[in-house]
Amino acid sequence: MKAPRFSYVRPESLGSALELLAEHGDEARILAGVQSLMPTLNMRLSEPRLLIDINRIDALKGISFEDGTVRIGALARHAELLASPLVAEHLPLIAAAMPHVAHVAVRNRGTFGGSIALADPAAELPACAVALDATFVLASLRGRRTVPARSFFHGLYETALAEDELLVEARIPALAAGYRSSFLEFARRHGDFALAGVCCHAHVDGAVLSDVRLACFGSEDRPLFAGAASAAAEGRAWSGDVKQAVKAALGGDLDPIGSFHASAATRLHLAQVLTGRALDRMVRAG
Ligand SMILES: Cc1cc2nc3c(=O)[nH]c(=O)nc-3n(C[C@H](O)[C@H](O)[C@H](O)COP(=O)(O)OP(=O)(O)OC[C@H]3O[C@@H](n4cnc5c(N)ncnc54)[C@H](O)[C@@H]3O)c2cc1C
Repeated sequence: MKAPRFSYVRPESLGSALELLAEHGDEARILAGVQSLMPTLNMRLSEPRLLIDINRIDALKGISFEDGTVRIGALARHAELLASPLVAEHLPLIAAAMPHVAHVAVRNRGTFGGSIALADPAAELPACAVALDATFVLASLRGRRTVPARSFFHGLYETALAEDELLVEARIPALAAGYRSSFLEFARRHGDFALAGVCCHAHVDGAVLSDVRLACFGSEDRPLFAGAASAAAEGRAWSGDVKQAVKAALGGDLDPIGSFHASAATRLHLAQVLTGRALDRMVRAG
């Protein structure tokens, strides 16, 4: 199918983009890397009257580091994240996740902001943001507000973004001393969306884990902070018993969605096995 008719504008400034959003509301869509937008238009899943191309807005670009925080602009391409020395040094969880995000062609155009705003439940970056306690900066003509990643994702492709808001950037605390990250996912083919995956971030002292943050993706309608599983590992020396306790607690955190790709029971099993292995790796990495 072909996309429905639409008008197209390419504002040069954030202010102009926000004015257009305020004027057109739900009739408009932001156009970033177009990797997901164009298929949805071609399949007529979305029929906006206006596409607002944000690719020329410099304020949305770049990756930087200041005062222990990494700023990732909404227009940072996946390929930029993959190649960034700042991400490799300060956000090793994201560095580990990036090779799993789609394929080279998609990574060359797809953007960080597009992935977060789209909120695909099987996408890697939203789950990384949840595990790393990222904060998103949203802008509209009404002003700016910040939303923690844990409360940003509301459901299947649903987020805290209002119709007139644009995601400007993420602010993510850099890896602090004594902290480690681990990322694992299961997909049928490399580059496919995951059937289940886990992002782990914690302070590791010998075998003792603290400030444990587990975020699961692919199995639910959104990236999910696994609170009970994180608590089950908190302050305890990693062992077979603790691993079993974490897996059991994850069964309470998750209520996986089954599909023809994998049943709910399979996704839960995958999430439990991946979480156990990811925590094993994190403790052994020392
Ligand atoms: C074949 C294929 C395989 C893929 N595999 C994976 C994968 O394995 N893992 C994965 O995570 N992703 C995958 N993707 C998705 C891809 O990674 C892109 O990140 C994703 O499509 C969205 O980014 P984009 O920049 O292309 O956004 P667009 O397609 O331009 O926009 C997506 C949506 O977000 C909105 N939007 C974009 N930017 C903003 C903003 N700054 N503020 C507010 N709203 C905004 C748009 O209006 C639109 O609704 C795949 C895509 C394809 C085509």
